[in-house]
Amino acid sequence: MMGKITISVCKVYKNTGLLRSHRDKTNKHWKHYFIENGKFKTEWVNPVKAVFLKTQKRKLQKFICFECGMVFQAIVKKTTDTCTCPQCEN
Ligand SMILES: [Zn+2]
Repeated sequence: MMGKITISVCKVYKNTGLLRSHRDKTNKHWKHYFIENGKFKTEWVNPVKAVFLKTQKRKLQKFICFECGMVFQAIVKKTTDTCTCPQCEN
């Protein structure tokens, strides 16, 4: 099991309408976009968790296998630039 795979963490300003004043500085929220059990999900997180999640961020990246020429996608850490081809792996 892979658990949660973080795709993105975004700061979101909730504009709930006329009742909100400019003095309300607590009106910032972080949204966590992730994949869990193969399903895309989102959740609200606090700023502390958002900072942590940013370090865990993964990226959906395209790869081309030099062995068989197959184009495939994989979720990798941002710094990763190589990945094992799913076809050649088997
Ligand atoms: Zn391959």
